[in-house]
Amino acid sequence: MRTIVIVGGGAAGLQVAIGLGRALGKRRRARVVLVDRSPTHLWKPLLHEVAAGSVEPTIHHTSLALQAQRNHFQFIRGNLVSVDRALRTVSVDTGGNAEIAGTDPQVIAYDKLILAIGGVTEYFGVAGAREHALALDSVSSAERVRDRLHAALRSKSEQESSLGTVGKVRVAIVGGGATGVQLAAQLRRTSRLLNRYGVHQLDPVQDVDITVLEAAPSILPGMDGELAARVARQLARQNIGIATGQRVTAVTPDGLKLNGNEPLNADIVVWAAGIAAPAEVAAMGLAVNGKGQACVDAMLLCVGDENIFAIGDCASCRPTNVAKELPTRAQVAFQQALYLVAAVPRHLAGKPVRPFFYRDYGSVISLAGAGAVGSLATVKGIPDWYVEGRLAALLHLAIYRRHIFSINGWRRALAVSLSHGLERWLGAGTRLH
Ligand SMILES: Cc1cc2nc3c(=O)[nH]c(=O)nc-3n(C[C@H](O)[C@H](O)[C@H](O)COP(=O)(O)OP(=O)(O)OC[C@H]3O[C@@H](n4cnc5c(N)ncnc54)[C@H](O)[C@@H]3O)c2cc1C
Repeated sequence: MRTIVIVGGGAAGLQVAIGLGRALGKRRRARVVLVDRSPTHLWKPLLHEVAAGSVEPTIHHTSLALQAQRNHFQFIRGNLVSVDRALRTVSVDTGGNAEIAGTDPQVIAYDKLILAIGGVTEYFGVAGAREHALALDSVSSAERVRDRLHAALRSKSEQESSLGTVGKVRVAIVGGGATGVQLAAQLRRTSRLLNRYGVHQLDPVQDVDITVLEAAPSILPGMDGELAARVARQLARQNIGIATGQRVTAVTPDGLKLNGNEPLNADIVVWAAGIAAPAEVAAMGLAVNGKGQACVDAMLLCVGDENIFAIGDCASCRPTNVAKELPTRAQVAFQQALYLVAAVPRHLAGKPVRPFFYRDYGSVISLAGAGAVGSLATVKGIPDWYVEGRLAALLHLAIYRRHIFSINGWRRALAVSLSHGLERWLGAGTRLH
């Protein structure tokens, strides 16, 4: 029986594992193996809500072993170490996980390999950024942002009640892309909520300074200009500072240096300025772009290797119907995953395979208390239309619900959504400490 190995169980990889498990694994037409270093999957676009403390990851994650059992694939928890492309084997380090060490193979032979290991924070060589700034690229990093914010609010509040005025809590978010602006809005909401719940006594707007720093002339670079303008207006209404055209040249224990040597004090610096592919991709000897992403062809096959596909954030993809490289977004990961679920069985059967086509459905930026702002792409030739407020927030929620549906089926998706709603109503999803 032939073996398909998928490395990475995130937005792209889990979707492919489930689809191929149902299509091939169930009828024993192929062995489908998913490898991930984490035992659970959390949809990454929720990370800024985890960072703000408004989403509890343990409520929203799903067990990869459980998904494997339900969807006819095998799950191996472990870290990708290397790929031998000549022998077609993947080496996986399972040793760090005491409960599974020694029970799983270290070397897995594959017929087709699907790389879906996502992205890591790109610091662009800025001095001190890796050491002093907080990243937002994993559950643990998002939890660190949450804990630092909560600690800073409590400590300034306690100092203020014993010493009088002690100044503001200053948060600087480097990067005015979707991650940065969504995080800023979430943090403003959290500072208000924690004040309402009596966790701190600071003025949640005047005493909590949140600034988004962006090197480009406007926030959301590369996205629709009208969308960016609408988001900027919403952020201004929430007293979130936007400083565009600002180049961060260093991060220090006390804050940042801008445009050479201008200091900017900050208690917390979050680095959301860009992502690159993990170093493992280039280490395989695959053709990569400047961000270390694997260059793929029209079938999502890595250039120069007809047995390795790359999808999601670790891939550099320029489909035949799109003029530029696709962005690192969940929408791209999802469409690529669905494409491979249909294409891989045809590759295995030696049948002709159509190229991957991408359809841009637009963007929705979630702004916590202010709802959301979205630009929805419609029919070619007709301009995008825009939604704001509750309708946009509902659309943003619908995108997450579609993800829940596609991995759970409609019955379980309904139950999961009801339980999420219940947890939210009970307040169990909000971290107050
Ligand atoms: C804070 C934040 C907010 C975002 N908001 C949005 C949004 O609103 N809309 C949108 O479209 N996109 C958003 N994105 C982008 C979106 O989340 C990604 O594009 C999408 O998750 C990419 O999917 P992926 O499967 O390629 O990677 P991921 O979802 O990151 O999954 C990668 C998987 O690989 C595993 N892995 C990594 N390295 C190894 C290894 N060496 N060995 C084994 N396993 C490994 C990881 O554990 C993980 O499970 C956001 C991203 C972030 C960080």
